[in-house]
Amino acid sequence: MSESPEDPGSVRPAQASAAAEDREHALHARELDAADPLAAIRDRFTLDDTVYLDGNSLGALPRAVPDRLAEVVAREWGELRIRSWSESGWWAAPERIGDRIAPLVGAAPGRIVVGDSTSVNVFKAVVGGVRMAGKGCTEILVDATTFPTDGYIARSAARMTGLAVRPVEPARIADEVTERTALALVNHVDYRTGRLNDLPGITAALHSAGALAVWDLCHSAGALPVGLDAHGVDLAVGCTYKYLNGGPGSPAYLYVRESLQERFDSPLPGWNSHAEPFAMDPGYAPAEGIVRGRVGTPDILSLLALEAALDAWDGVSIEAVRTKSLALTDYFLDCVNAYAPPGRVRSVTPYDHSRRGSQVSLESARAGEVMTELIRRGVVGDFREPDVLRFGFTPLYTSFAEAERAAWVLGEVLRALPEEEPEAAGTAG
Ligand SMILES: *Cc1c(COP(=O)(O)O)cnc(C)c1O
Repeated sequence: MSESPEDPGSVRPAQASAAAEDREHALHARELDAADPLAAIRDRFTLDDTVYLDGNSLGALPRAVPDRLAEVVAREWGELRIRSWSESGWWAAPERIGDRIAPLVGAAPGRIVVGDSTSVNVFKAVVGGVRMAGKGCTEILVDATTFPTDGYIARSAARMTGLAVRPVEPARIADEVTERTALALVNHVDYRTGRLNDLPGITAALHSAGALAVWDLCHSAGALPVGLDAHGVDLAVGCTYKYLNGGPGSPAYLYVRESLQERFDSPLPGWNSHAEPFAMDPGYAPAEGIVRGRVGTPDILSLLALEAALDAWDGVSIEAVRTKSLALTDYFLDCVNAYAPPGRVRSVTPYDHSRRGSQVSLESARAGEVMTELIRRGVVGDFREPDVLRFGFTPLYTSFAEAERAAWVLGEVLRALPEEEPEAAGTAG
């Protein structure tokens, strides 16, 4: 059965049904929003009528940020100038803000330092991990489905340390790890499909083979509980501009398990990680604790924007965020099933809650054109090559009504863009 705009029998009259009041799922969305304990948190963000489902790429602006940044610039930089390194707490910001992120990823204070990009922190974690691994290790395993930057950096880190890289699907790591494996670098949530990988199970399997577990939390931190300390994760990295809403290019973070910190030998031992940075000693001696994950002068404006952004989490538990995230993604999938023409999209995100992150990825023919049209109609997700439509759900500010509207507009767009482009006349084969 095809549903084309020329087939009025099988198509809802778009104009007549476009009003939310008339749609079968819209009423239910209003009930879900009315019962949502996080609904009021949305007011902590600057948003508009656009359905913004790209917070897994760039989180929305928390309202507290502009005034705080203006104050940092005018007062701390403009008036206090150099005094702000101590008087305004600039120097200690990387560890202080690390301690603010810590409860969201299940870490005790003193285990996370903020600074540099995720890519740079992947380098620190992989080389640092190899330097802690057993002498006989010859390889590192890299998530075969990883976000590309992790793979690029891991291959360079392996070249520098004389190890081989072996790409392995996350579900296969427990079977593939050997006593020659130094570590595995794995994405907690797959950026493309939204699949949640089994962090406790994979970490335990790596440990039983004597290997370290290095996790990339870019698509899980701020979206679901991670439990770094509880699961004995060795090293972890993550960015802060996705579900943590820190702003474009906001600094990333590095986690080092407490019992490994003493052995953590950073491949980027800048003066900020020195035991006595102001001694200006030509010889290097690492600071104690997580400070040794620092490199050079921190990016203060971005760091302090991130710190203000984290105020949006006041009084919010990551468990409540997870509950809403699963409800939102379930609901969106239901609405897509109800509204999209049959057979036009296929979810590549697992239905199983224990394997789902906070996004829904739909495979679709002409996905690039579909997303362009969705954005034109006020529903912002993104497109990933070759055929994936990504919709990120940020429980702090996404409503059920928005999930419903996005699915409705998707249905309209799919009907307006038939699956196959009309073939040029006379084309054969
Ligand atoms: C977003 C993302 C990154 C980004 O790295 P940058 O250095 O911040 O550009 C890295 N890894 C994963 C898994 C990501 O999702």
